[in-house]
Amino acid sequence: MEVEEKRCFGRCGDIKPLTEFTPQKQGKYGRAARCRVCNAADQRDKHAKKTTVPKPISEDEKNFFRLGTHKADDRVRELEKALAVMKTANSALLEIIQDTDRREANRPNIPE
Ligand SMILES: [Zn+2]
Repeated sequence: MEVEEKRCFGRCGDIKPLTEFTPQKQGKYGRAARCRVCNAADQRDKHAKKTTVPKPISEDEKNFFRLGTHKADDRVRELEKALAVMKTANSALLEIIQDTDRREANRPNIPE
C-alpha cells in the first residue's frame, strides 16, 4: 500500500497528506520533512529575524569600526592642520597684498 500521509517535522507536527509536503528527492517518501505551512512559517521567521533583529557585533567588527573612526579622526585632524596652515599663509599673503596696495597708493606721483 502506498503511503499517502506523513508526519510533519515542523512546528505543527501534524500528519498530513503527502501533497502538503514539497517534493524532495532525499526526503522520506520523496517529500520534504516539513509541510508547506511550516516551511513558509520558517521562511517568514528567518526573513523577519534577518530584517528586524540586528546581528550582534563581534569584537573584530567593533575593532574595525574603532580603528576606522580613529583613522577618520586622524584624517580630519590632518586636514584641519592643513587648513590652518593655508589660512595662515592666506592671511600672510593678504597682508603682503594689502601692504603692496598701500605702498602703491602712497607712492608719490612722479611726473614722467
Ligand atoms: Zn507542518
